[in-house]
Amino acid sequence: MTIQTTVASFADPALHAHGLYIGGQWHAGAGIPVLNPSTGEMLAEVPDASVEDAMRAVAAADAAAAGWRATPARQRSEILRRWFMLMIEHSEDLALLIALENGKALSDARGEVAYASEFFRWYAEEATRIPGEFRPTPSGSHKILVDHEPIGISVLITPWNFPAAMATRKIGPALAAGCTVILKPASETPLTAYAMARLGELAGVPAGVVNVLTTANPGPVTNAMLADPRVRKLSFTGSTGVGRVLLAEAAKTVVSCSMELGGNAPFLVFDDADLDAALDGAMIAKMRNAGEACTAANRFYVQAGIHDAFVQGLTKRMAALKIGPGYEPTTQCGPMITKKAVQKIDQLVSNALERGARATTGGAPLPGSGYYYPPTVLENVPVDAAIAHEEIFGPIAPVYRFDTEEEAIRLANDTEYGLAAYVYTRDLTKAMRVGRNIETGMLGINRGLMSDPAAPFGGVKQSGLGREGGVTGILEFMEAKYYAVEL
Ligand code: NAD
Repeated sequence: MTIQTTVASFADPALHAHGLYIGGQWHAGAGIPVLNPSTGEMLAEVPDASVEDAMRAVAAADAAAAGWRATPARQRSEILRRWFMLMIEHSEDLALLIALENGKALSDARGEVAYASEFFRWYAEEATRIPGEFRPTPSGSHKILVDHEPIGISVLITPWNFPAAMATRKIGPALAAGCTVILKPASETPLTAYAMARLGELAGVPAGVVNVLTTANPGPVTNAMLADPRVRKLSFTGSTGVGRVLLAEAAKTVVSCSMELGGNAPFLVFDDADLDAALDGAMIAKMRNAGEACTAANRFYVQAGIHDAFVQGLTKRMAALKIGPGYEPTTQCGPMITKKAVQKIDQLVSNALERGARATTGGAPLPGSGYYYPPTVLENVPVDAAIAHEEIFGPIAPVYRFDTEEEAIRLANDTEYGLAAYVYTRDLTKAMRVGRNIETGMLGINRGLMSDPAAPFGGVKQSGLGREGGVTGILEFMEAKYYAVEL
C-alpha cells in the first residue's frame, strides 16, 4: 500500500500534510525520507528543518505566547475538546497512517489513536481545574498564596513508537497550562504529527501555539532552541542515552526538563498466580506494538512451581500470532521500525542462545523485504545475559526461573531503569509488599496494561524525571509563584 492510495481513502486528504508547520503556516520541503517498515518502500519525504527554521518556530511560539496565556481556561479547554473530537472523527485515517509509517498492527494503531485522543479530553477537563493555595504560615506572620503560571515556550521531542500518543501526552497539558509549543517528532514517523497539527488547526488552535518541525539533525536544532532564553521547558520522550545528552544541554540555560526515558520492565509470576490471567497479561505487556513499548515486559521472572506451564502457555500464544504488514487488518504482529532494530534484536537473541538459552518459538529474523522478527520465547536465559540488561524493544520474551520472593525482587531491581513492573499473584498483600520493594514508577498488579491518561506515567532511576498524565501532569508545564501576603 502506498501513501497515495491511503490519502485517496482519507476523509480529509489534507491530513496528509507534511510541510514544516510554523506560526500557522505550512512550509513545503524535502530531505527526510519516510519509509514503510512493512515493505521497506518510501512513503513520503518531509522537510529537514534547519537551525534557522527552528528559530522561526521559537519566534512564532513567542509571538503567540501572551495571547494564549491570556486566553481563558474555559476557551483553551474547548479547543482541546474539539481537537479530541476531531481525532475520534478521523481515527481510522490516523490509525492507517500510524500503521503505515510505524508498522504496528492496525488494531494497535486504533488503540493508540483512542489512547492519544484521551489526553486531549483529559486535559480539556484539567485546564479548568488548575490548583492554587491559600493558607496561614505556622507562625501566623502572614498568608501564603500560591498561584501556578504557564512555564513558557516548551520544546517537545517525541519517539517513533507511539507517534500520536507521545505527542498528545505533551501537547494536551502544555496547552491546558497556557504554554505554546514546538513539537519535534521522530524522523521515522512524522506524518502522524503533521496530520495531528492539521486537526489542531481545524479545532481552532491559534497560529503559533503549536509548531511542528522535522529535522535530520536533532542535536544542533534542539541545542539552538534550548540556548534561546525564551524557551523554558524541554519535555522529552525517548531513550535514556539521548535523555542524558539533552539534560546536559538543558543545564547550560537551566531549562526545566521532564524526561520519559527507557525501561526494562520485570514481569513477576508467583506460583499462586492465575495462570491464564498471567498469560493474558504477559501477551499484552509483551506484544502491544510488537514489543516496541517502553513499558514492554522485558524480563519474565517466573516462580519454579509454575515456570514450565507458563513457558508452554506463552510459547503457544506467541507462536499463534499472525505476522504481517501493519496495515493488513488481520495482522497481529507487525514489523520492527527499521532494519537496524532487527539487527539489534538479533544480536541480543543470538548472544542469549550462545550462552545456553533455548528458543521455544522464533529465534531468528524473517527473510524478505520489510523488517520482521517473529514472536520469540527464550528459556534457560542466564540472568547476566545482555538481553536481561538492555531494552529489547521487540517481540522477545526471555523467561527466567526464581525460587523466593527476595530473589525475584533482587533480580527485578538489577537494572538502571525503573519505569514499569508487573506482578501476578492471588495474594494482594504479597503484591503490595513486592510493589513497595520494587524500584519502579508504575506497577501493574494482575494487569498487563497500565497506561491511562488519568494516571501519572513515568519512571524512577534512569527511566526519567517527572510524570505525564494524571492530575499532576499539567504542573510539569507550570511554575508555582508564591505571594507572601501581609493580612
Ligand atoms: P531516541 O532517543 O533515539 O529518539 C527520541 C527522539 O529524540 C526522536 O525524536 C529523535 O529524533 C530525538 N533525538 C535523537 N537525538 C537527539 C539529540 N541529540 N537532540 C535532540 N533530539 C534528539 O528514541 P527512539 O528510538 O525514538 O524511541 C525509543 C526509546 O524511547 C526507547 O528507549 C523507549 O523506552 C523510549 N520511550 C519512553 C517512553 C516513556 O514514556 N518513558 C515512551 C515511549 C518510548
